[in-house]
Amino acid sequence: MTTLEGRFARRVAQLGTETAFAVAAEAADAARDGREVFPFHLGDLDLATPANVVEAAYRAAKDGRTGYCPPAGIPELRAAIADDVNASHGSSYSPDDVAVQPGGKPVIGKFLLALMNPGDEVLYPNPGYPIYESQIEVHGGVAVPYGYLDRDEDFSIDLDGLEASITDRTRLLIVNDPQNPIGADCAPEELERLAELARRHDLLVLCDEAYFDIRYEGHRTSLASLPGMAERCVILYTFSKRFAMTGWRLGAAIGPREVIDVIGRLNVNDESCTNQFVQVAGVEALRGDQSGPRHIVDVLHARRDVAVQALEKVPGVRCNVPRATFYLFPDVTEAMRLVGATDVEAFRRGVLRATGVACCSRVHFGRPAPDEPRQYLRLAYAGIGADRIEEGLDLLRAYLESGDG
Ligand code: PLP
Repeated sequence: MTTLEGRFARRVAQLGTETAFAVAAEAADAARDGREVFPFHLGDLDLATPANVVEAAYRAAKDGRTGYCPPAGIPELRAAIADDVNASHGSSYSPDDVAVQPGGKPVIGKFLLALMNPGDEVLYPNPGYPIYESQIEVHGGVAVPYGYLDRDEDFSIDLDGLEASITDRTRLLIVNDPQNPIGADCAPEELERLAELARRHDLLVLCDEAYFDIRYEGHRTSLASLPGMAERCVILYTFSKRFAMTGWRLGAAIGPREVIDVIGRLNVNDESCTNQFVQVAGVEALRGDQSGPRHIVDVLHARRDVAVQALEKVPGVRCNVPRATFYLFPDVTEAMRLVGATDVEAFRRGVLRATGVACCSRVHFGRPAPDEPRQYLRLAYAGIGADRIEEGLDLLRAYLESGDG
């Protein structure tokens, strides 16, 4: 029998994954064993894509919009996205500053391919979306993490730590605001300081705004809209969360024309173009009736409130209340003590076994530093209704009250 061992490109060893998928497999095993599972691990919405959007895709497919189309996107969608971003960011992007993508995720790799040379240092959030670390490393960059400070009411970027990590090899900065998995959103002072650091050190910035519109309180402000930032920021834009379109794969890169032109050429090399009838549906999502996305945010807002209230009753758990995203990032350090757990993954698995509550932990969002003093879980409420949130977290409360690890 032949083996391919030793035949893989060296970069394959650097390729990470979303280890949160492993939690989905554990949850499925628990369900097969007859346990009722409460799916707090899912970053996917259980809500329907708005009907007008579905209808538009169906019509476009029937009308024959099924062939190749321009690699950077159909002109109507590039224009609709530029208008949408200009309205929320106070910016003046033109359709030529937009390259449509099959989802928001491809923007990460394309931003790095366009702007990062091997050996360049890239600052990225950790805990953070695990694909940053993977893509930086697979393309030969040096992934330099920056963290968050838990200030008891909310999280903020450890800006002093971030600044201290900047060297003469630092080229790029990745900012995810609002943030997965923490649920944090940047205060105006944080954005000011990030912008100042980017300008002073001549950093180009990926602004991952996947959750920009999943906001319940506070103002939406983008780092890209601060003075002098539009020319150094590429925005990751997606339809996934706002329109419950995760599986449709529709997003965009928005930024300086020279970078967008290169990203357009990467599109030619990778996928040729994004599915045309899905792009037509994207135009309807942005230009048509807006009751669908409003409903999605209302449902998520109600779930957040139920989840936060239920968590408040769980012993040993302390949770900041996020104003955006559909994630909670509770500190479970004391809760672990209650059941005698010393490892957060052992604790998470114990919770799944005892209560059916399936969730991720901090370790699914980048390599933890050896000296992190507090332990966290990530609970997503995108794929679980309010009643089940209450039921699941009540079981968690009972488990921790029993102290029965
Ligand atoms: N960025 C962040 C922070 C995310 O959490 C996600 C998805 O969960 C994405 C980007 C990519 O989403 P999509 O490719 O569905 O647009």
